[in-house]
Amino acid sequence: MKHEKSVKVYEEAVKYIPGGVNSPVRAFKSVGLSPIFVDHAHGSKIYDVDGNEYIDYICSWGPLMLGHSPKELTEGIEDVIKRGTSFGVPTEIEVEMAKIIVDAYPAIDQVRMVNSGTEATMSALRVARGYTGKNKILKFEGCYHGHSDALLVQSGSGTLTYGVPTSPGVPDDVVKHTLVAKYNDLEDVRRIFREQGNDIAAVIVETISGNMGLVKGKQEFIQLLRDLCTEYGVVLIFDEVITGFRISYNSSPKYFGINPDMVCFGKIIGAGLPVGAYGGKKEIMDVVSPVGPVYQAGTLSGNPLAMHMGKRNLEILRDNPQIYTELERKAIKLEEGIKSNLEKLGLDYTVNRAGSLVCLFFTKGPVESYDDAKKCDIDKFNLYFKELLGRGILVGPSQYEAMFLSNAHTDEDIENTINANYEALKAAH
Ligand code: PLP
Repeated sequence: MKHEKSVKVYEEAVKYIPGGVNSPVRAFKSVGLSPIFVDHAHGSKIYDVDGNEYIDYICSWGPLMLGHSPKELTEGIEDVIKRGTSFGVPTEIEVEMAKIIVDAYPAIDQVRMVNSGTEATMSALRVARGYTGKNKILKFEGCYHGHSDALLVQSGSGTLTYGVPTSPGVPDDVVKHTLVAKYNDLEDVRRIFREQGNDIAAVIVETISGNMGLVKGKQEFIQLLRDLCTEYGVVLIFDEVITGFRISYNSSPKYFGINPDMVCFGKIIGAGLPVGAYGGKKEIMDVVSPVGPVYQAGTLSGNPLAMHMGKRNLEILRDNPQIYTELERKAIKLEEGIKSNLEKLGLDYTVNRAGSLVCLFFTKGPVESYDDAKKCDIDKFNLYFKELLGRGILVGPSQYEAMFLSNAHTDEDIENTINANYEALKAAH
């Protein structure tokens, strides 16, 4: 595969953008490559500036449930632009969008639009603190909730990839209220609640973490969080930036049969346009300005383009439940194909799957925690990544990211991926 043009753009990029990229994990630095620069994408495929085609399992890190630039979403977008791109006063479509989200997520009564997952989690915490009058928050090792100061502690995704789970630039004073427990460790959670439960405003959790590879919250773990939060008057926040509308149209409450007090959504509700949202029961959301005293705002929040794409996207997912069945069928096919390759090659690695999210861990399982995920053979993953890329398959350039399937992935794509996975694993060992 040729990479001359991507390399040239990258050389220019590093002059003007830190590391040449606008988000660290795009840099391919951890796998020892310079990044591919995308020219365009369609369906399940990405095409780079050198003309290479890749079956894409990054899918913009999750939001593209229907694949790249699906006609059903892009049609009519020019008309939306012509009517104005931002107003600073409300629009009807914001109300329609909020209604769709609330209808899909019965645990909440109201939702506020923001512009990213980071904004959603940061704002939800402020609201939870304002509502409870308490300061401490509890998060879990390996869960990533965006890059706001209070949450950049023992987090996953790029922070784990680049070895900075707690970032310089975040004052100790800011994170002194952030407690961290081990994911899926019931005893650790009980201990923290015993010691500090009365001071905790909120527990924030990825019910299925897509930021330390892919690690599912155990049913009894999520249930324990629910029970303790109720007992101690703590706001339970599900961060559904990855899982929302993906693991099921009704997200984690349907998957686990457990309701949070608040929820955060991100990219997925905008189908690839910048958006996020947080919501909760009316009693909690009533503290948000202008009804209550907790301030949170956004010039571009509820942007008409994002609302248009997002609303269509959610309507399609709502009205076509077979999309979820098909996505899961293809994900199972991929999971089983990879497992069979591992067996043929005598490799005792682990494959985790939840709905249409899949992750191959380069370690013996089970992988149920941050500590388990950190046991992976990163050098081997990096070799594998390069071999896979050379065969036209694009996965996240990090062991700590999941593969995202979209409705545009065909059976042929999955079969080609399984074949490439076999060859790449073989070449890397
Ligand atoms: N929460 C989770 C679970 C995420 O995976 C991410 C990003 O991937 C975020 C929050 C932050 O979202 P954003 O990158 O839109 O700020």
